[in-house]
Amino acid sequence: TKRTIGLLFGGCSGEHEVSIASARAIAQALSAGSNAAVYTLLPFYIQKNGQWCDSAIAQQVLTSGQPLSSDLASSDPVDRWRLPPTAGDVDVWFPVLHGPNGEDGTIQGLLTLMQTPFVGSGILGSAIGMDKLAMKTMFAQAGLPQVNYMAVSRSQVWSNPCIYPKLCDDIEAQLAYPCFVKPANLGSSVGISKVRSRAELEAALDSAASYDRRLIVEAGVVAREVECAVLGNEQPQASIVGEITYQSDFYDYETKYTEGKADLIIPAALPEAVTAQIQTMAIQAFTAIDAAGLARVDFFYIEATGDVFINEINTMPGFTVTSMYPRLWGASGITFPELVDRLVQLALDRNG
Ligand code: ADP
Ligand code: MG
Ligand code: MG
Repeated sequence: TKRTIGLLFGGCSGEHEVSIASARAIAQALSAGSNAAVYTLLPFYIQKNGQWCDSAIAQQVLTSGQPLSSDLASSDPVDRWRLPPTAGDVDVWFPVLHGPNGEDGTIQGLLTLMQTPFVGSGILGSAIGMDKLAMKTMFAQAGLPQVNYMAVSRSQVWSNPCIYPKLCDDIEAQLAYPCFVKPANLGSSVGISKVRSRAELEAALDSAASYDRRLIVEAGVVAREVECAVLGNEQPQASIVGEITYQSDFYDYETKYTEGKADLIIPAALPEAVTAQIQTMAIQAFTAIDAAGLARVDFFYIEATGDVFINEINTMPGFTVTSMYPRLWGASGITFPELVDRLVQLALDRNG
């Protein structure tokens, strides 16, 4: 008998559109080649307002590739979180949700309560992977090298009387310019600024504080950006290493999602020892946060000194056919449909 895969996409996050694109690619892969004989696709779409939609609407969104033109809003607020009855038919969930309310442990908590296996990290790994401060603490504990950083809270930024001068003095003394100001719990570079002066720092702190209570400020490095895909549960494997190149000031939202603004180079042209070091660090990072199934681990490689710093881990990386994660596995010998099959099997191994 075929297994029913509950493909869960969309979501209440700034990465809603990316999720739709990832889901389209995964839906296609579930009916490609030998997958067609073993899997049945049952899609579920979560609107930007958080309301779940049944498979008929989800299929429409998958076909069009666009969010619903206007969110369906139920008059009964409780309906917004009511699962469509067909959720009970799902054998394995594939939550391809990026960012808050999906990649951060919230959906993983729901699926855990439902006692149905799901692809990817559980509650803990997802939550740590989404919070840049928690992530850095775990990385430090695992001995992974990182750039210098400071934790800042919204209440420090928005304090009355204003403590900007003292806070900014501390940041300048500890990190200097340029530095990066980030909300702790986001992705796709949303809310991130690169700052070079006191005025920019103040504006960036204010902006990041509007996204999250928890902020991080990091020393800026001049580095090549390289990424490694990890696949597995207890014995995770690392892929070939890829590099991202772009013309913009940093890898911001526009550069990430505008066609032609960034190039993926696979494999990255790196000394063999550096590649090996990155692969080892990627697996250590995966284990350090208790990730499962898949993750993409991103690094800064400073060519002049040979230093490799870990930047972050993403527990549900972009999953379109042109995304780094599936392309790294493609270059490592695993096709896109095979990768989707492996992830479902890993979900069953772990939770089944
Ligand atoms: P996100 O989770 O939103 O992708 P990142 O921490 O990866 O956030 O930051 C997004 C981009 O900002 C990075 O890919 C890089 O281009 C730039 N960046 C972030 N932190 C630094 C840093 N400390 N030094 C240099 N560039 C950085
Ligand atoms: Mg990220
Ligand atoms: Mg990133």
